[in-house]
Amino acid sequence: MIPVRGFEGKTVAVFGLARTGLAAARALQAGGAQVALWDDRPAAREAALAEGFELTDLNSADWWGFSALLLSPGVPLTHPAPHWTVERAKAAGVEIVGDIELFARAVNAAPEHKRPKVVAITGTNGKSTTTALIAHICASAGRDTRMGGNIGVGVLGLEDMHGGAVYVLEMSSYQLDLTSSLKPDVSLLLNITPDHLDRHGGMDGYVAAKRRVLLNQGKGDTAIIGVDDPYGQRICTEVVAANRRTIVPISSSKAIGRGVYVLQGLLYDATGERAVEIADLLRARSLPGRHNWQNAAAAYAAARGLGLTPEEAAEGLMTFPGLAHRMETVGQVGRVRFVNDSKATNADAARQAMSSYPKIYWIAGGQAKAGGIEGLADLFPRIEKAYLIGEASHVFADVLTGKAPVAECGTLERAVERAYADAAASGQDAVVLLSPACASFDQFADFEARGDAFRLAVQGLEAPVQRGARA
Ligand code: ADP
Repeated sequence: MIPVRGFEGKTVAVFGLARTGLAAARALQAGGAQVALWDDRPAAREAALAEGFELTDLNSADWWGFSALLLSPGVPLTHPAPHWTVERAKAAGVEIVGDIELFARAVNAAPEHKRPKVVAITGTNGKSTTTALIAHICASAGRDTRMGGNIGVGVLGLEDMHGGAVYVLEMSSYQLDLTSSLKPDVSLLLNITPDHLDRHGGMDGYVAAKRRVLLNQGKGDTAIIGVDDPYGQRICTEVVAANRRTIVPISSSKAIGRGVYVLQGLLYDATGERAVEIADLLRARSLPGRHNWQNAAAAYAAARGLGLTPEEAAEGLMTFPGLAHRMETVGQVGRVRFVNDSKATNADAARQAMSSYPKIYWIAGGQAKAGGIEGLADLFPRIEKAYLIGEASHVFADVLTGKAPVAECGTLERAVERAYADAAASGQDAVVLLSPACASFDQFADFEARGDAFRLAVQGLEAPVQRGARA
């Protein structure tokens, strides 16, 4: 745990009692602060009680007595409407911070010899993969590496800092909105496409939040910016004009003058005088597809920004084991392969998996995002049949009708059964792909629960085959 100092003898209100909130509460207590914990959901309050915390009903609390409000990233700061705790904090002049902000202050306050390296990663898609990839490269190269933030452990729950440590932090746009003092040694902005616009009041707010990952950087720091989309291109040009740090543009599709890029699977480092071939990503077993080439280029550049050698970085790319729920093969029954891409919660993410296979039995649906699946129309010819689930089922069926065969299945289990039956009957090698292009919250706790349910359903299909094999 990283004790948070600066609030000794003061009281900090903590709203949102999931992973981030509870880790932050412990870190604040360890630094000598009192905490007042609350959540709107009774189940979250119960969980906090079970972990030995006391609760304070923030509805009836005296807000003038608080030094800060620690807000969980899941709680709306501005859009669609400020949460009531935000209103109360503002009325009482109480500062609102996120856990990464407290981490940043702890790093900034540390003496030079204790100050760790910090890598901050954001983007619309590929954050978790790139974060895990950078952490893997650093750990493989023998660095004392801690990974957290929006992935795994809340940042304040990570081990305390020392001079040789590297913190690799995934940052969502919500977390960035609550962070102002972070000064990453290496920051990454992978890509920007519309997502979560409801929480940022439109594209401008969303881009502004993402850009915050580049704040405060100066000489000696590195900014890595994906230039495959127009937002990234523009930001890169603006940052180059400001020009105080090292800027590394990255691309997964075109040769760029100075930067790191991938052409047909080959990773090139063109940050020096000439382009040097670094690695053949077609041989990296857990980085399939052009989207992963973007992640690999970014991770390579980050490793170099941290002072690792090109060889160390390339080695880590090759040995990366991959992440669950992202184009993860969870089973094979006969000639049918099952791929779990539950993490694809929007059309843009689903596009990556869908374009990786020429023929798919596609399981999609859930809680629809703005834009739906219209943007995937060029990939509809790859759909042998679509198996639709959840709230978005009817809407997606309307979009697909006349373009691909559709079965509305209701539940994921039913979709798996029907997709398997059709794929097996084809008598060919086939892929059943769960890449829902939707949030999961209508039917599951989160995308992990959805992916786990998919894996279980697939195991249910595999079992009779294995019994048959033994008989
Ligand atoms: P995030 O943490 O940003 O949500 P993940 O690494 O968990 O991203 O990947 C989520 C999904 O997005 C994956 O299933 C994959 O299909 C897709 N994806 C991964 N990397 C990229 C990328 N660089 N560009 C676009 N889509 C991507």
